[in-house]
Amino acid sequence: MGGAARVKREPQRTCIGCRQVRAKAELIRLVRRADGIVYVDRTGTAPGRGAYVCNQSGCVEEALKRGRLAKAFRGKAEASAEVMSLGR
Ligand SMILES: [Zn+2]
Repeated sequence: MGGAARVKREPQRTCIGCRQVRAKAELIRLVRRADGIVYVDRTGTAPGRGAYVCNQSGCVEEALKRGRLAKAFRGKAEASAEVMSLGR
């Protein structure tokens, strides 16, 4: 056996809606593509700058408030229809 116990650390990310830190697996990844549109990244591996939001309409709503996405992505960012629909 390998000796020292390994500490398992799940990757954690901050929700851009409620600002709480959660396990990455519990969050939805949003990704901004080159055109500035923000998409839902279902695979979690899409290229581009990513941001995370809880899988709750309240958090998505917060994230869609004016300027939130742009701040998270540090630049122009516009939610796609799919992202908007998460906030309903
Ligand atoms: Zn949240």
